[in-house]
Amino acid sequence: MRPVPQPTEISRPFWEATRRGELRVQRCGDCGRMWWTPQLACPECLSERYEWARVSGRATLYSWSVVHRPADPVAFADEIPYVVAIVQLEEGPHMLTNVVGCEPGELRARMPLEVAFEPLTDEITLYKFRPAAARS
Ligand SMILES: [Zn+2]
Repeated sequence: MRPVPQPTEISRPFWEATRRGELRVQRCGDCGRMWWTPQLACPECLSERYEWARVSGRATLYSWSVVHRPADPVAFADEIPYVVAIVQLEEGPHMLTNVVGCEPGELRARMPLEVAFEPLTDEITLYKFRPAAARS
């Protein structure tokens, strides 16, 4: 059984958005700072006024690790090797995710990525990133 993310009261809007094919992060209603992961208050000014702002889904690769021996080798057997990465969204926040759609050896720091949604259950759609389509 693959582990399934369990939305909390604070993260539920994030997961509702991914299910609709939208990537959203919190944006402070006082200072405008955007952040992720979901938290009750702005990390900049501690304001608890925020909205869930839709972001472009464009990002660059910040850091990554190739997983050959996952903590749960049964659940992820058909995924090995997979890439756990930190990407930086075009809008600024960093996000922990997976990079799919290319070989681990093709990964390069700061390479352009775009979000890719992957339904896991009726409720949960995972957000992953893949190499951005070449733009002319
Ligand atoms: Zn703020």
